Amino acid sequence: MGHEVTVYERADRIGGLLMYGIPNMKLDKGVVDRRINLMREAGVRFVTCAHVGKKEDFASGHMTQIMEERGCEMQYLDPNDLLKENDALLMATGATKPFDPTGRNPGRNLAGIQFAMDFLTRNTKSLLDSNLEDETYISAKDKHVIVIGGGDTGADCIGTSLRHGCKSVVNFELLDQPPAERAANNPWPQWPRIYRLDYSHAENKAKHGNDPRAYHVLAKEFVGDQAGRVKGVKTVEVDWSKPIEGGAPFSEVAGSEKEWPVDLVLLATGFVGPELEVGEMLGLEIQNPRGNWQTFIGEHGEFTTNLEGVFVAGDCRRGQSLVVWAINEGRGAAHAIDRYLTGSSRLSAGVTQDGALAVG
Ligand SMILES: Cc1cc2nc3c(=O)[nH]c(=O)nc-3n(C[C@H](O)[C@H](O)[C@H](O)COP(=O)(O)OP(=O)(O)OC[C@H]3O[C@@H](n4cnc5c(N)ncnc54)[C@H](O)[C@@H]3O)c2cc1C
Repeated sequence: MGHEVTVYERADRIGGLLMYGIPNMKLDKGVVDRRINLMREAGVRFVTCAHVGKKEDFASGHMTQIMEERGCEMQYLDPNDLLKENDALLMATGATKPFDPTGRNPGRNLAGIQFAMDFLTRNTKSLLDSNLEDETYISAKDKHVIVIGGGDTGADCIGTSLRHGCKSVVNFELLDQPPAERAANNPWPQWPRIYRLDYSHAENKAKHGNDPRAYHVLAKEFVGDQAGRVKGVKTVEVDWSKPIEGGAPFSEVAGSEKEWPVDLVLLATGFVGPELEVGEMLGLEIQNPRGNWQTFIGEHGEFTTNLEGVFVAGDCRRGQSLVVWAINEGRGAAHAIDRYLTGSSRLSAGVTQDGALAVG
C-alpha cells in the first residue's frame, strides 16, 4: 500500500516458529524462505539479530541467547525508540514463554532436562547451518527420551528424537486417551477431540512397535546420577473421574507409582504467553488472567492497543495458535494499520473467529 515496512527479528533467520519451531521434516524451510524473499523483493526490510528489549530480560536456553552463542552479533533496541522513529508499531512477538508444571518437582535442575523449544530451535539451526555436522544441537542419539506433554510440540520432539536415533521415546500426557469418536459433550462444529496418530506417533509405531504416548501420567520427581544428570522420572497415574474437592481436578491412583529410566527429558508442557518485558517497556496492557497483549475493537479494528499507534497480532494476542490464524491476524493488522495511517484501507480485514469476513 506504499508504506515502508521494517521487521526486527532476534533470530538470524526470518519466519518465527515456521522457521525455528516447526521442524524441517514437517515444514520445508525453502517454502518459508521463498515467501520471505517475495516480501523482500516487494521492499520489506528485514533486520535480523535484533532483540527489541533489554539483554538482562532473557534466561538461559532463550532464543536470543542461542543466537548469540551461535555467532549473532545481537543489537538491543528500545521499543520506545522504534515507536518514535516510525508512524506505527506492530507487536507480533509470538507466545513462546514456556509453561513448566514440573518447576517445583524435586530434581528439576538436573542436567538433561530441556525445554522443547530449546531442543527444537538448536536442532533446526544446526540442521540449516551444517546439516547437523557442527554438533551444536541437543542430541537424542542412543538416549532413552521422555517427552512430557502430549500436544503438537511434544509430537515434534518425538519426531526429532527419532531422527537423531534415540534408543526409545515415551510421551507422558496428563489427560486420558481421547475417544475414537466425538463424545456427547463435544458436538460439531467444535474441534473434534478424538484419538489421532500424528506423524511422529506413526513413525515410532513403525520403528519401535508402539504409540509412544502414556496417558493420565503425572511426573512427580526427577532422579539424578552422581554426576548430576537425570537418570529417572518418578510418576503416578491420575484418575480424572475423582477430582479433589477444592484442589486438583484429578486424584492420584494409589499403587500406580513407577520410575522410568531416562537420559533426556524434553518439556513440551505448553506456553504461558508472550514475553512481557518488551511490552512493559512500552506500557502495553495485558489481558487478564492470561498474559496475552490486550487489544480493543477501536476505531481502526480489533488489533489496536491502549497505546496510540501500537498494534498487536498473532500468538501474542490470541495465545499459542495455528499458522492460518497468524496469517489471518497479520492481514487484519495490516488493514488496521493502513487505515490508521491513511484514513481508509482497500486491504482485506481477514476473517473473524467464527469464519465470517471481518468488517474493516
Ligand atoms: C513446536 C511447534 C509446532 C507447531 N506446529 C504447527 C503446525 O504444525 N501447524 C500450525 O498451524 N501451527 C503450528 N504451530 C503454531 C504456529 O507455529 C504459531 O501459531 C505461529 O507461528 C504464530 O505466529 P506469530 O507470528 O504470531 O508468532 P511466532 O511464529 O512465534 O513469531 C514471533 C517472532 O517474534 C520474534 N520475537 C519475539 N520477541 C522478540 C523481541 N523482543 N525482539 C525481536 N524479535 C522477537 C521471535 O523470535 C519470533 O521469530 C506450532 C508451534 C510450535 C511451538
